[in-house]
Amino acid sequence: MSCRFCHFENMKEEIIYSDEDVYAIVSDTPLSHGHVLVISKRHVERLEELGIREITTLFQTIKNLIPQLLNAVKARDYNLFINAGSQANQSVSHLHVHIVPRRSSRNHLDVFFDAFVEEESRRLSKEAIKRVAYSIREKIH
Ligand SMILES: [Zn+2]
Repeated sequence: MSCRFCHFENMKEEIIYSDEDVYAIVSDTPLSHGHVLVISKRHVERLEELGIREITTLFQTIKNLIPQLLNAVKARDYNLFINAGSQANQSVSHLHVHIVPRRSSRNHLDVFFDAFVEEESRRLSKEAIKRVAYSIREKIH
Protein backbone atom coordinates (compact mmCIF):
# COMPACT_ATOMS: atom_id res chain seq x y z
CA MET A 1 0.00 0.00 0.00
CA SER A 2 1.43 3.35 -0.90
CA CYS A 3 0.21 6.06 1.42
CA ARG A 4 1.44 9.57 0.69
CA PHE A 5 1.28 10.66 4.36
CA CYS A 6 3.34 7.65 5.54
CA HIS A 7 6.23 8.91 3.41
CA PHE A 8 7.00 12.14 5.22
CA GLU A 9 10.70 11.66 4.43
CA ASN A 10 9.80 12.82 0.90
CA MET A 11 8.14 16.01 2.15
CA LYS A 12 11.06 18.11 3.36
CA GLU A 13 9.89 21.09 1.31
CA GLU A 14 6.39 21.24 2.76
CA ILE A 15 6.99 20.21 6.39
CA ILE A 16 6.67 23.09 8.87
CA TYR A 17 6.88 20.99 12.05
CA SER A 18 7.92 17.48 13.01
CA ASP A 19 8.42 15.48 16.19
CA GLU A 20 8.41 11.81 17.15
CA ASP A 21 4.65 11.29 16.71
CA VAL A 22 3.28 14.10 14.59
CA TYR A 23 4.24 16.30 11.66
CA ALA A 24 2.63 19.21 9.88
CA ILE A 25 2.73 20.26 6.23
CA VAL A 26 1.44 23.13 4.17
CA SER A 27 -1.63 22.06 2.18
CA ASP A 28 -1.02 21.78 -1.57
CA THR A 29 -4.64 22.83 -2.16
CA PRO A 30 -5.07 25.54 0.49
CA LEU A 31 -8.45 26.96 1.47
CA SER A 32 -6.65 30.05 2.75
CA HIS A 33 -3.09 31.31 3.10
CA GLY A 34 -1.45 29.26 5.87
CA HIS A 35 -3.74 26.19 5.60
CA VAL A 36 -1.76 23.34 7.15
CA LEU A 37 -2.39 19.65 7.81
CA VAL A 38 -1.31 18.10 11.10
CA ILE A 39 -0.66 14.40 10.58
CA SER A 40 -0.08 11.46 12.93
CA LYS A 41 3.09 9.57 11.95
CA ARG A 42 1.38 6.28 12.70
CA HIS A 43 -0.90 5.24 9.85
CA VAL A 44 -4.53 5.28 10.88
CA GLU A 45 -7.42 6.41 8.73
CA ARG A 46 -9.56 8.02 11.39
CA LEU A 47 -9.31 9.77 14.74
CA GLU A 48 -11.15 7.04 16.61
CA GLU A 49 -8.40 4.55 15.72
CA LEU A 50 -5.84 6.45 17.79
CA GLY A 51 -5.29 5.71 21.48
CA ILE A 52 -6.17 8.45 23.96
CA ARG A 53 -2.47 9.20 24.56
CA GLU A 54 -1.92 9.63 20.82
CA ILE A 55 -4.93 11.92 20.59
CA THR A 56 -3.58 13.97 23.48
CA THR A 57 -0.18 14.25 21.77
CA LEU A 58 -1.81 15.21 18.46
CA PHE A 59 -3.97 17.92 20.01
CA GLN A 60 -1.14 19.17 22.23
CA THR A 61 0.85 19.73 19.04
CA ILE A 62 -2.12 21.47 17.41
CA LYS A 63 -2.56 23.67 20.49
CA ASN A 64 1.12 24.68 20.34
CA LEU A 65 1.13 25.20 16.58
CA ILE A 66 -1.97 27.37 16.31
CA PRO A 67 -0.64 30.62 17.86
CA GLN A 68 2.68 30.28 16.06
CA LEU A 69 1.01 29.60 12.73
CA LEU A 70 -1.48 32.46 13.12
CA ASN A 71 1.37 34.79 14.01
CA ALA A 72 3.44 33.59 11.06
CA VAL A 73 0.66 34.12 8.50
CA LYS A 74 -0.88 37.17 10.17
CA ALA A 75 -4.32 35.78 10.88
CA ARG A 76 -6.32 35.98 14.09
CA ASP A 77 -8.96 33.29 13.66
CA TYR A 78 -9.05 29.77 12.29
CA ASN A 79 -11.16 26.71 11.52
CA LEU A 80 -10.05 23.29 12.67
CA PHE A 81 -11.51 20.17 11.10
CA ILE A 82 -11.11 16.52 10.20
CA ASN A 83 -12.62 14.85 7.14
CA ALA A 84 -13.21 11.16 7.87
CA GLY A 85 -14.13 8.90 4.97
CA SER A 86 -14.96 9.40 1.31
CA GLN A 87 -18.44 10.77 2.05
CA ALA A 88 -16.74 13.50 4.10
CA ASN A 89 -14.26 14.28 1.29
CA GLN A 90 -11.24 12.74 3.01
CA SER A 91 -8.64 13.03 0.25
CA VAL A 92 -5.86 10.90 1.76
CA SER A 93 -6.88 7.87 3.84
CA HIS A 94 -4.47 8.74 6.64
CA LEU A 95 -5.69 10.85 9.56
CA HIS A 96 -4.94 14.56 9.21
CA VAL A 97 -6.31 17.62 10.95
CA HIS A 98 -6.82 20.80 8.93
CA ILE A 99 -5.94 24.18 10.43
CA VAL A 100 -7.35 26.90 8.19
CA PRO A 101 -6.40 30.46 9.20
CA ARG A 102 -9.26 32.94 8.66
CA ARG A 103 -9.17 36.61 7.85
CA SER A 104 -11.84 39.17 7.16
CA SER A 105 -11.39 38.68 3.42
CA ARG A 106 -13.34 35.90 1.76
CA ASN A 107 -11.70 32.58 0.90
CA HIS A 108 -12.69 29.19 -0.44
CA LEU A 109 -14.15 28.04 2.88
CA ASP A 110 -16.76 30.80 2.84
CA VAL A 111 -18.71 29.02 0.14
CA PHE A 112 -19.10 26.18 2.62
CA PHE A 113 -19.92 28.36 5.62
CA ASP A 114 -22.32 30.61 3.73
CA ALA A 115 -24.66 27.65 3.54
CA PHE A 116 -24.79 27.63 7.35
CA VAL A 117 -25.11 31.36 7.72
CA GLU A 118 -27.75 31.96 5.09
CA GLU A 119 -29.97 28.90 5.33
CA GLU A 120 -32.32 30.20 8.00
CA SER A 121 -34.98 27.94 6.48
CA ARG A 122 -33.09 24.91 7.81
CA ARG A 123 -33.39 26.09 11.39
CA LEU A 124 -35.04 23.40 13.52
CA SER A 125 -37.91 24.09 15.88
CA LYS A 126 -37.38 23.44 19.60
CA GLU A 127 -39.64 20.43 19.23
CA ALA A 128 -37.58 19.02 16.33
CA ILE A 129 -34.32 19.56 18.27
CA LYS A 130 -35.82 17.65 21.20
CA ARG A 131 -36.82 14.77 18.92
CA VAL A 132 -33.39 14.50 17.28
CA ALA A 133 -31.59 14.75 20.63
CA TYR A 134 -33.87 12.10 22.09
CA SER A 135 -33.36 9.66 19.21
CA ILE A 136 -29.55 10.03 19.38
CA ARG A 137 -29.41 9.89 23.20
CA GLU A 138 -31.49 6.72 23.15
CA LYS A 139 -28.89 4.97 21.00
CA ILE A 140 -25.69 6.15 22.66
CA HIS A 141 -26.61 5.21 26.22
ZN1 LIG B 1 -0.37 6.44 5.86
